[in-house]
Amino acid sequence: MTADEQLTRRLVDLAAQGRRSRCGEAGSHELWLSDDATDRALAARWCTGCPVLVECGAAADEHDERFGVFGGVDRTPPPAKRKSAATGVRGETRHPTCQEPS
Ligand code: SF4
Repeated sequence: MTADEQLTRRLVDLAAQGRRSRCGEAGSHELWLSDDATDRALAARWCTGCPVLVECGAAADEHDERFGVFGGVDRTPPPAKRKSAATGVRGETRHPTCQEPS
C-alpha cells in the first residue's frame, strides 16, 4: 500500500468517527497552502497532535510536495528558490485539505 493510500485510509477512518484533520476544517484550511509564510507557520503549529501526521508527511514525501504544509512541515522553498522548484506548484498539490474521504 502506498503512503497516499495509507493517508486516505486514515482520513476515511477519521471521518467515520466524525472527526477530521485540522487542515480539513472550514475557515482555516487555506492556511496550509497560503502564499503567506506567516500563515503557513501557523498551519505547521496547528498540525501538532494531528492523528494522521506521520501518514501525511509520508504521502507528501511520496509526491515530492514542495509547496505548503504537510505533516507539520512547511515544504515551501524561500521565494528566491521557488522558480527552480521543478514540482509541487500549487496546481499540482495533493494536500489532505483537498481530499474528500468517501
Ligand atoms: S497537513 Fe497533515 S498533519 Fe497537518 S493537519 Fe493536515 S493532515 Fe494533519
